[in-house]
Amino acid sequence: MNNDIEKVLYSEEDIAAACKRLGTQLAEDYHDKTPLIICVLKGAILFMTDVIRDMDIYAEIDFIDVSSYHGGTASTGTITLLKDLDTDVAGRDILLVEDIIDTGRTLKYLEDLLRDRKANSIKVCTLMDKPSGRVVEAKADYVGFNVPSEFVVGYGLDYEEKYRNLPYVGVLKPEVYSDK
Ligand code: 5GP
Ligand code: MG
Ligand code: MG
Repeated sequence: MNNDIEKVLYSEEDIAAACKRLGTQLAEDYHDKTPLIICVLKGAILFMTDVIRDMDIYAEIDFIDVSSYHGGTASTGTITLLKDLDTDVAGRDILLVEDIIDTGRTLKYLEDLLRDRKANSIKVCTLMDKPSGRVVEAKADYVGFNVPSEFVVGYGLDYEEKYRNLPYVGVLKPEVYSDK
């Protein structure tokens, strides 16, 4: 698996430092609340489980799964709800945890859903942001890294469901795509 990587963008150490910085800030900002932290599956799973360890506050967690990619490397534009939350979000302070924001469509879909369900507040923490990819307006409140418009894998992010278990974020060799 490591042999398929052309270059490492963010090392384990870079990611740990970003989690510490974001987690500390989030704990400060939410110290007087009990947020519901929502992990957007599957990509944000590693990031969420790391960032919450740096948050010394009372918090609950839940999971939601939406899909927009259907296997490839380009967004299809249609969002499907694959797994709903278990928790009633009405009146709750929500922290959405995302792996990466590209076109913004996923985030907009989730924010609309949470607003419809009467969340009290909604904030977004993303490991990575690709501002150059925006198609709809969407903004993260907490960002680990601003990334160039490249397709990245690792630390939760997949290509055809693989590479999520790489401990760092990197870019695949071109032949990995052309081989399939
Ligand atoms: P958006 O709806 O903002 O276009 O994309 C959001 C989702 O698309 C992300 O949560 C992620 O699952 C996927 N995505 C966007 N950019 C990348 C990328 O560079 N690599 C991978 N593996 N997934 C991406
Ligand atoms: Mg995602
Ligand atoms: Mg994906």
